[in-house]
Amino acid sequence: MTSAAPPDDDHGVPVSVKIRERVKAARQRFHSNDNIAEFIQPGELEKLLDEVAEKMQGVLDAMVIDTENDHNTADTARRVAKMYIKEVFNGRYVKGPSVTEFPNAEHLNELMIVGPITVRSACSHHFCPVIGKIWIGVMPNEHTNVIGLSKYARLAEWIMGRPQIQEEAVVQLADLIQEKTQPDGLALVMEASHYCMAWRGVKDMNSKMINSVMRGVFLKDPNLRREFLSLIPRQP
Ligand SMILES: [Zn+2]
Repeated sequence: MTSAAPPDDDHGVPVSVKIRERVKAARQRFHSNDNIAEFIQPGELEKLLDEVAEKMQGVLDAMVIDTENDHNTADTARRVAKMYIKEVFNGRYVKGPSVTEFPNAEHLNELMIVGPITVRSACSHHFCPVIGKIWIGVMPNEHTNVIGLSKYARLAEWIMGRPQIQEEAVVQLADLIQEKTQPDGLALVMEASHYCMAWRGVKDMNSKMINSVMRGVFLKDPNLRREFLSLIPRQP
């Protein structure tokens, strides 16, 4: 396929191709955990869903599943496409939640901990669920913007709503919170079960992966780091 399709003569060009060409023209990345909302025009997400449903039907056909006579799988292709595009991976396709930032009028400068926030994602290796919890520690200064507690959950949901790699997900979320609030320090701990290790692979139901990101004063001050870690009530 040639890379420079004329923009108006797009009859028959799959919408995924059009979106991909725009992303490439802007020299942006489109890995599984990248957000590509700015390249999707109004109405195109529905067309993308149709395209994914069609391809999912091809997967079911290739798996030799009789979707014509098996009423259980008759609409599976479309259900899976909808689940990917509109639900579990929606964080790739929509713009980030609007977060109102308030100036730190109270001049809060004490360690603030938010969590546990339940997070749901899927690993980009197997598209298997990753379910876990996140704790966020914020060390504000007088210039730090304050955002409502529920907003941390909305930001986390947007980042996790993509095929993710836990190590990259925590960094993406830390970058986003950093950008929105500009704190002196930011700490993030994520603990999650990876169903690709429970359902398949080693089939270990109990293993959890823990990742942390420490920024600013949390990096420099071991006491603050210890205080944060001692205050988050993780299960053994
Ligand atoms: Zn996996």
